[in-house]
Amino acid sequence: MKATLTIDDPVRAADVTLSDLRARARAAAAVAGQYASAVDSAARFPAEAFAAIKAQRLLSIMVPETLGGEGRGIGEASDVCYELGQACASSGMIYAMHNIKIACLVRHMGRSAALERLLRRLSAEQLLLASSTTEGQSGGNVRSSEAPVQHHDGGITLERRASVISYGAHADGIVTTARRSAEAAPSDQVLVAFLKSDYALSPLQGWSTLGMRGTCSEGYILKASGTPDQILPEPYETIHAQTMVPYAHLLWGSVWTGIAASATGRAQAFMRQAMRQGNGQLPPGAPHFTKALSSLRALRGMLATAMRAYERVKGDSKALASLEFQSMITLTKVEASELAVSIVMSALRACGLSGYRTDSEFSVERHLRDVLSSPLMINNERILSNLASSALLTPLPASLRE
Ligand SMILES: Cc1cc2nc3c(=O)[nH]c(=O)nc-3n(C[C@H](O)[C@H](O)[C@H](O)COP(=O)(O)OP(=O)(O)OC[C@H]3O[C@@H](n4cnc5c(N)ncnc54)[C@H](O)[C@@H]3O)c2cc1C
Repeated sequence: MKATLTIDDPVRAADVTLSDLRARARAAAAVAGQYASAVDSAARFPAEAFAAIKAQRLLSIMVPETLGGEGRGIGEASDVCYELGQACASSGMIYAMHNIKIACLVRHMGRSAALERLLRRLSAEQLLLASSTTEGQSGGNVRSSEAPVQHHDGGITLERRASVISYGAHADGIVTTARRSAEAAPSDQVLVAFLKSDYALSPLQGWSTLGMRGTCSEGYILKASGTPDQILPEPYETIHAQTMVPYAHLLWGSVWTGIAASATGRAQAFMRQAMRQGNGQLPPGAPHFTKALSSLRALRGMLATAMRAYERVKGDSKALASLEFQSMITLTKVEASELAVSIVMSALRACGLSGYRTDSEFSVERHLRDVLSSPLMINNERILSNLASSALLTPLPASLRE
């Protein structure tokens, strides 16, 4: 499919072919990078980056071609997350969260006409979807919901204390977990998709954080109404294991790898400048640069292996539910986040004071503040303790016994 996109406005100034995804991602990342410091210091939504992302039609790359998208896979979405993560961590994370929601819809919407309509509109108008899984004070306990979907007069309503919804005020729609009904157990959940005209958000808590300041992850009371066919037909339990967790861990991981790659790039530039000015003498932090580089290779390698493992089993619900796959994809998040933090720390040590300054071209202070969110975005300790309990209940996979 060779479609050309002609763009006339400065943020959108690029002539690209739809097939050239990397060029489109880089064009959007260039804009995201231009405004990254402003987004961070003002803790504001990266509007310019998302105008460029929409102009490059990057919000519908994973939507099937039959619904106006490009039908691309997780590998290509991860490449875009990596490009954006290098330029502006908040833009990368917002793009990742949007695509995680797209994947849940595409892979689990069945024949829902309402959800097909939603995806067609999303492709045509480049709509941005937000995610709501955190509720009340339960933090990252995603597999438990308080507020139920209420059914009445052929319609549905939902009122939820959504304590964290990234870019909630800037999104065109929200995909949220909820209890199936008022009688259902907290773990008997559904996923529901609402567009902006279906809901109202009243502020609950702000987002004043160390990093990821542009995700604007504020808390809201979400009051929504719609029709039953906006509820995804498959139970959230299935969607969570088969799509939400794999896509979240692989796309978040791609953003964190982007942050780590950008910090390593600054350390390399610092090394070069220091050697030029030091008659070829390596600066004292050089061993840390080598460590950052080798850890970055390891992180990219680990993510690529996990991505291939997912691609192999993505159509096999039994394999997806297996302890082998679930422990691999769960540990991928823990290892990717811990590695990304250590890489940025190594880059800081390599750059020394120049990396610690906020006004130097080698500064990695924003990278550090942004990447420190990664072990807390669903706390790694929570993930490991959940895995430990499920691992205890299941026989060791063959690959670990042979
Ligand atoms: C950058 C970023 C973006 C995010 N975007 C979204 C989003 O778009 N949608 C979404 O649903 N979630 C979002 N989250 C929230 C995320 O999904 C988790 O809910 C959050 O990271 C907390 O995870 P945790 O509970 O495992 O860990 P922790 O924060 O370590 O919390 C541990 C426990 O402490 C308790 N706790 C936490 N906060 C409080 C509190 N204020 N008062 C009392 N007890 C408390 C809870 O029991 C919690 O389980 C985002 C998080 C980050 C870092």
